[in-house]
Amino acid sequence: MRIGVDLGGTKIEALALDERGQHLTRRRIPTPAGDYQATLLAVAGLIKRIEQETGRRGTVGVGSPGSLSPASGLIRNANSTCLNSNPLQQDLERLLERPVRLANDADCFALSESIDGAGQGYASVFGVIIGTGVGGGIVINGSLIPGANRIAGEWGHNPLPWPGAAELPGAACYCGKRGCIETFLSGAGLAADYHRETGVSISGAALSERLAQQEQAAQRVMARYEDRLARSLAAVINLLDPEAIILGGGLSNVARLYQQVPRIWTDYIFSDVVRTRLLPPQHGDASGVRGAAWLWAVDEQG
Ligand SMILES: [Zn+2]
Repeated sequence: MRIGVDLGGTKIEALALDERGQHLTRRRIPTPAGDYQATLLAVAGLIKRIEQETGRRGTVGVGSPGSLSPASGLIRNANSTCLNSNPLQQDLERLLERPVRLANDADCFALSESIDGAGQGYASVFGVIIGTGVGGGIVINGSLIPGANRIAGEWGHNPLPWPGAAELPGAACYCGKRGCIETFLSGAGLAADYHRETGVSISGAALSERLAQQEQAAQRVMARYEDRLARSLAAVINLLDPEAIILGGGLSNVARLYQQVPRIWTDYIFSDVVRTRLLPPQHGDASGVRGAAWLWAVDEQG
């Protein structure tokens, strides 16, 4: 049995899969926000209840915000800041008395979609999160590529490729640079562009509504968004050349992206033909917890 845990800012969710990837059980509790020790105990309690319920012991994978520093073994860059500078993996291993694997949410998304989601059957998959932040994960032949610094796929903090004059120098990013892809392609980046166009501040949901009503300003803003997403993904394709790119996060719900972006990216990709598929996710919000479970591969199952 594989247990996956999705450690979110507001909820902790756990899922148990059997050997064939079928759901055994799923539980969800609120996150003890801001309290690291209570968070550890909450995760351990969830796993204990799942193992009591199923009568089996499982491997444990955890999807967490931020990432483990390969230098210190401590969590860094997590937006749930109580996790930062804590040895989350080590503490969970001690509490649960077994090895625990940890990956960030974008990596879990990429793994879940690659193994039995939209990316099934493709040898190389780039899983993309476009939502509150912009992240990504790379899966080759069913295995997640962590990278030497555990940042593989972090395309959101590269600069926007082929920028026009109006796109320079770009907005300040929390990472300390200006004009990062994330400042253009996150939900906040899209809302900021709509504000520049109209002087009106609206939510992502309101923008979707205005798009559906064919509002001119919303259409212009979305066309710019598609062009920027196409350029940013073209740079990824030139480097990694994945067979499939799967979108996740809140903005993956915008249906027109899947037609428009591949139409535009051919202008930027260094190839006469482009066979890369741009696909919507199959598991949606469940990808985080599913991918965490899949951190233990098929051949490692006891
Ligand atoms: Zn940045």
